[in-house]
Formats: sequence, structure tokens, C-alpha cells
Amino acid sequence: MFDSLKKELSRRALLHKAGYGFMGLGVTGVVGHIIKPVRTFAQAPSKEPSLPPEKKLGWAVVGLGKFATEQIMPSFAECKRSKLVALVSGDRPKAEKYAQQYGIDPKNIYNYQNYDSIRNNPEVDVIYIILPNGMHAEYSIRGAQAGKHIMCEKPMANTVEECQAMINAANKANRKLMIAYRAQYEPYNLATIQLAQSGKIGKLKSITSDHGRTLNPKDPADIWRMQKKLAGGGSLYDIGIYSLQAARYVTGEEPVAISAMMYSTPGDPRFREVEENVNFVLQFPSGVLANCTSSYGYSNTKRIQVFGSDAVLELDPATDYYKHRLVIKDKNGNQEQKIEEKNQFALEMDHLSESIMQNKQPKTPGEEGLQDVRLMQLIYEAARTGKTIKV
Ligand code: NDP
Repeated sequence: MFDSLKKELSRRALLHKAGYGFMGLGVTGVVGHIIKPVRTFAQAPSKEPSLPPEKKLGWAVVGLGKFATEQIMPSFAECKRSKLVALVSGDRPKAEKYAQQYGIDPKNIYNYQNYDSIRNNPEVDVIYIILPNGMHAEYSIRGAQAGKHIMCEKPMANTVEECQAMINAANKANRKLMIAYRAQYEPYNLATIQLAQSGKIGKLKSITSDHGRTLNPKDPADIWRMQKKLAGGGSLYDIGIYSLQAARYVTGEEPVAISAMMYSTPGDPRFREVEENVNFVLQFPSGVLANCTSSYGYSNTKRIQVFGSDAVLELDPATDYYKHRLVIKDKNGNQEQKIEEKNQFALEMDHLSESIMQNKQPKTPGEEGLQDVRLMQLIYEAARTGKTIKV
């Protein structure tokens, strides 16, 4: 049953070597001929103007925290279209240390007060917001008003209104706005989408997706995550969003009904302001039901299971940084699908740079981030009221 996928994967490896389809599986026009995804955001235009081979856009990273310094900044080395040229930080000595490490001119170091003057720096084309969630809206809007394109980390913002204001600001400034949904650029997740939407595992019936980890109150990166104003929500906003995303991108559909339950351990000081666990069920128009969990209490888990009438697909880990594992279970037993790992951060950054160079809408624009924030608010409402909410 999966021979055609294997052939397609090896064909793509050749296409990649030949310089086609830089984003990997399932998103190029070449792939679009093989399997037709249901929703438009899984596709890119098939014919794109060719780009000058050496051109790279200049990027500024805002907020030099754990994710920025450990994952994003090192990944520029693997980018073809993006280079790190500026830093924005509230900690000057830290910024100087990284500027030296990455060969960034100290004149390109900004702080949160003089951030707006980045408008006068022609070396900076794109600003990447990697701040606590509650700061995403302000710094994205100020960045767009400074005439720069914006990449913003997930979740897009705390509220639907903030998301809309970000979209409006980018539109008004005629700049691109992309939400950094790295899984939608990662080869194993793209293969999962393709398998699920092509009928390769039969008719889709159900999806489960679980994303959780234990919140560590001693980790500086987790301190703001316990504060509602900076985090927007609890585990759902931080990692449950991956379960929600998975259900949406695997089906290629938008949910029509939501039910949910929420529980936080009583007396646990980590959960005074934000929730620990949320379990939610999404119903999709095709009849697929997705059971999703989100937790700040259970041990590190990032997995997706897709149940079709002919086979079951398991991706575990599904949304890790590296070392994904995809297994198809059918009447012939378990078959592991090996796909070449790629740096998903480099892929997503280059996707935005290419979208800017080609003046096309990125695959995960602000509207995609807004939809998740809207749905997460409905999940909270369903949990609070105990009612199934029609979307
Ligand atoms: P960190 O706390 O490690 O980094 C946040 C940085 O923001 C800080 O280091 C600091 O940088 C700056 N900052 C400015 N004001 C504040 C404030 N009041 N409190 C705390 N920090 C502040 O967080 P993470 O790197 O883990 O997360 C940052 C963002 O990235 C979040 O939106 C998160 O959801 C997202 N993320 C995404 C991941 C993904 O896989 N896509 C994975 C992990 C996080 P400075 O000192 O330079 O000013």
C-alpha cells in the first residue's frame, strides 16, 4: 500500500538535490500533482519565479531567550534565504555576547525602548518576535509600523482582538505576517498530512493528539508561563496548541463543534493563574472526531495518531525538534516510514523570506494564528460551561 509513497519520497529526494521544492514534502507544486490536499494552506503555487541564487534577507531576532538562542539563532546557518543581522534585547551584555558569536555589528543591537528606530536600518527586512506571548501583539505591530515583515512565534497573541490588530497593522504597512508554525514545514508532519488526505490509510475516522510536559517553576522560561498576562493561557496556549494544529492540518478541515474539560491540581502554586490540563474533542465536517489533550502535568509527550478505515498512522514524537518517528499499522503489521530529517526552523524562515521575495502569502499567515486563538477561546468556553459549542 505504501510503495507509491516510498517512490514519491525518493523522487523528492532527487528533486531536492536538483533544487526543486526546498520546503520538503507535501508543499510544492510537484507534490500537488500526486496528492491533492483538501485545504489551501497545505499548498504553494506550482510555478514560482526563480530567485537570485545568493540573495538572503536580513533578519532581526527580538527576545534572546531559550528558544531563540538554542534553536532559532543557530538555524540561520542552515538557511538559504535568511541571515541574522540584528538583535533586540533588554539585556545589553547578553546581546553583545551573541552579536560577537554570530558576527553581528554592535550598531545592530536594539533594546525595547529604541526598537522602533529599526525602521532606519536597511539591513533588516524581517523581524522575528520570540517574546512571551503577551508581548507578541505589541512588538509585531510596532515592527510592521517600522516597515518590516514579521515572523511571530505561536501562539500568535493572547486574544482574538490582538490577532486582528496585528493582521491590520501588517496589511496597512503592506508587509507580510507569518506565524511560526514549524510543524507545517517539517517533513514528517507533511508526510502525515499527505498520507491522511490522500486516502492512503483509508477513510479518516478519528485523530488523537497529545502534547504535554511538566512545567518547571525554577526555569526562567517557565516563570512567565505561569502568569496569565504574559502567557495568555496555560498548557493549551503553550503546547496544547500543537494538538489543535495537528487535528486541523491532518484533516485539512475546520472544526464545527467543540467540547472540553479542564482540570488543575488544587493548591498547586504553578496553576494559580493558568490551567494545567485541558482535554478537548473536535468534530470536523467530514465526521472525523479528534481527541486532544494538553498538559503541564504529564511527562514530555508530543504525538499524533490518525485512525483510518484501512490503517492507523502514528507519529511519535510528532512535533519535536528532531528524531520524529512515523509508523503505519495495517493488516500487514507495522511499517516504519523513514524520511530525511530537515531543519524545520530553517525551512520555515526561508519560507517567509521566499514569500517576501516572490510577494506571495506565506503558508501560515496571521489568519492561521488568529483561527487557533479563536478556537482556543472556544475550548475554554466549552470547558467552563460544560456545553458542546457549535463553531
Ligand atoms: P524565554 O523566557 O526563554 O525567552 C523570552 C525572552 O523574552 C527573554 O529571554 C527576554 O529576552 C524577553 N523578554 C522581554 N520581556 C520579558 C518578560 N517580561 N519576561 C520574560 N521574558 C521577557 O521563553 P521561550 O524562548 O521559551 O519562549 C519565547 C516564545 O517562543 C514564546 O512565545 C513561546 O511560545 C515560543 N516558543 C516556541 C517554540 C516552538 O517550538 N515554536 C518553542 C519554545 C518557545 P531578553 O533578555 O533578550 O530581553
